[in-house]
Amino acid sequence: MDAIALENRYSASNYHPLPVVLARGHGARLWDVAGRSYIDMMSAYSAVSHGHGHPRILAVLEAQARRLAVPSRAFYNDRLGPFLEKLCTVSGLDMALPMNTGAEAVETAIKAARRWGYRVKGVAPDRAEIIVAEGNFHGRTTTIIGFSSEAEYRDGFGPFAPGFRAVPFGDLAATERAITPETVAVLVEPIQGEAGIIVPPDGWLAGLRRLCSARGILLILDEVQSGLGRTGAWFAYEHEQVRPDGLIVGKALGGGVLPVSAFIGTRELMAVFTPGSHGSTFGGNALAAAVGLEALKIIEEEGLVERSRTLGAHMMERLKAIKSPVLKTVRGRGLWVGAELDPARTSAREACERLLEKGVLSKETHESVVRLAPPLVIPREELDLALDRFAEVLHELEPLHRRRCAA
Ligand code: PMP
Repeated sequence: MDAIALENRYSASNYHPLPVVLARGHGARLWDVAGRSYIDMMSAYSAVSHGHGHPRILAVLEAQARRLAVPSRAFYNDRLGPFLEKLCTVSGLDMALPMNTGAEAVETAIKAARRWGYRVKGVAPDRAEIIVAEGNFHGRTTTIIGFSSEAEYRDGFGPFAPGFRAVPFGDLAATERAITPETVAVLVEPIQGEAGIIVPPDGWLAGLRRLCSARGILLILDEVQSGLGRTGAWFAYEHEQVRPDGLIVGKALGGGVLPVSAFIGTRELMAVFTPGSHGSTFGGNALAAAVGLEALKIIEEEGLVERSRTLGAHMMERLKAIKSPVLKTVRGRGLWVGAELDPARTSAREACERLLEKGVLSKETHESVVRLAPPLVIPREELDLALDRFAEVLHELEPLHRRRCAA
């Protein structure tokens, strides 16, 4: 059986992959089993910001795996402290709790916010409420999908946990109206990723910070996708000069090789955790901590934040210069752009399939948005090549859809 048939035969069908079988990666390039090369404009949903097989990440991964990998947190290890110290330094927060996946770190944030609500704010037991945004994506656990507004994510998986209230993304007045004495936190992505790279109005995040401070509510930001340089800043909240009370990071924290996530917060918030209140067998293991620390150092020492800002501006300029009726709008920040196609004319899936034929890998998000999010290490020439191919695909789709519209 070939690789696609085998995967389809034995894997539950929870994804709809493009028909390419990848075998190798290096930097911003991927190769399929036949040796054909592709430019990666996807970065594994932003987990591969460092590029595939970054030599420094591989060196630490191998050396640390030989020294000590998974001792469990029943004991201290000599890698975790330096890693968490660095996370706190780059985020400007005080303490962190290491986990593995993004969803686990979001769950950690929810537990922290609720316990803070009961123990510090004085909310009555089991009444805590968290305000979230419509269109959010925070992961796939049952609690998290319970406050998703996507029917597809929820269908057939209830009953769901109470204690969440959704307001339109970027709407400060609606957030204010949703606050009750039982509200403990606002939990949002600073830019919504899976919703289609939705950039909120300027001033919204700063307004949210002021609102939360004035009303005694935690501001918790999910930067699993937007963080660690993706938007041209270490964290997207820096664009509005604010600091959250709690911050969720993941994806690129694992250097593109391991699942590494964390919930980071102020001392007051993190103090709600006591021995036994939370944990994870693999969270904070020495291998993950060593790789996570190296991932942060590389972002700093290789100027990846700056690269994201300048190459991102270049990408946006080039995309805005494309004149095509198929392309409705482009939006984003740094090396993180959503290109929204006209759904009456084409689908993002069709565009991604054509990109694949031209040696560029990306994936649609929802029906009509093509995600353009290369590794932050991508050479400018490769980025330009991928953008040339994208423009070609749009132009190819024009006559097809003139016909389709006329029919
Ligand atoms: N939060 C955000 C903002 C995300 O984009 C994602 C993943 N796309 C998650 C959380 C969940 O991360 P994971 O898949 O590692 O659980």
